[in-house]
Amino acid sequence: MPGSFKTEAVVLRSIRYGEADRVVHLYSSTRGRIGAIAKGSRRPKSRFGGRLEPFFHLNLVLYEGRGDLFTVTGASTIDGYGRLRSNGPALGAAGRACDAVLRLLDSGEPNQAAYNLLCTYLALLDADPPAASAPGTALAFRLKLALAAGFSPELASCASCGETDHLAAFSGAAGGVVCASCEGGGFPLGEESHRFMVEALGAPLSEAPAADERVAAQADRAITETLEHHAHVRLRAAA
Ligand SMILES: [Zn+2]
Repeated sequence: MPGSFKTEAVVLRSIRYGEADRVVHLYSSTRGRIGAIAKGSRRPKSRFGGRLEPFFHLNLVLYEGRGDLFTVTGASTIDGYGRLRSNGPALGAAGRACDAVLRLLDSGEPNQAAYNLLCTYLALLDADPPAASAPGTALAFRLKLALAAGFSPELASCASCGETDHLAAFSGAAGGVVCASCEGGGFPLGEESHRFMVEALGAPLSEAPAADERVAAQADRAITETLEHHAHVRLRAAA
């Protein structure tokens, strides 16, 4: 039904459209994924200013017409994350985070856990860019995002047979850690990498455990292969 509504949202992607417009891909608190057109937003005196750029956290007024795209009729800034933008690694991490949300959460159903997680990660990247863009935090974000989307890997027992001992491999097809007898098709997963994933899921994002290069590579592969098999999305490397 056509009409206007208000929502909070984060700009995931912003695309030039036509002569002076912009199409923005948003992740909103109340309507999940939204695509919207902001007419005239590339004109120098646009009332939207520069706030329809990626990572901006906004209060929006949107008009829902009959087409696929909503229309942005009002936008005010909750946070522009200025510090994050002047730090290369933090900017890269924010870009990969928004890309992961774009690929993994494409429904118009609200997902408050995923929305809060994205806002928390952007705020961390803004507050302490070197710490928050570390691989441990980037991978913890991705694990928590997979959990929020319903695709968290099984880490407590063998994803094939339920065995709780000798969990030395990971299988994306099985969707989690696998025991020595079910190892076929999986890749070897070190004890530290397994522990990293369990701790990263259990701790708040601001207290994500550190991951050395080997742990980061194994955890990244585990999450990526799980999402490829079960969510049918392919994410860019996390770090
Ligand atoms: Zn097994």
